[in-house]
Amino acid sequence: MFTCRDIPEHATAYAEGTLGPWKRLMMMIHLSYCGMCRTYMRQLAWLRGLMGAAPMPPPPPEVEENALRTLPPPG
Ligand SMILES: [Zn+2]
Repeated sequence: MFTCRDIPEHATAYAEGTLGPWKRLMMMIHLSYCGMCRTYMRQLAWLRGLMGAAPMPPPPPEVEENALRTLPPPG
């Protein structure tokens, strides 16, 4: 039986659907009664969604210049 400590170890494979059927079942059983790990999985899915999205384009040069100007001079 999976404990909370087993969940992070298998969470990625579970989310990707690459976890074996037995471990997948163990995950599902654990998640069915453990709200903490359900929250963890939700956060992981959310993070994966963020990272799976198109990479952030770099800011246009004028934005970067403005940001540099608003910073106090070093030293
Ligand atoms: Zn748990």
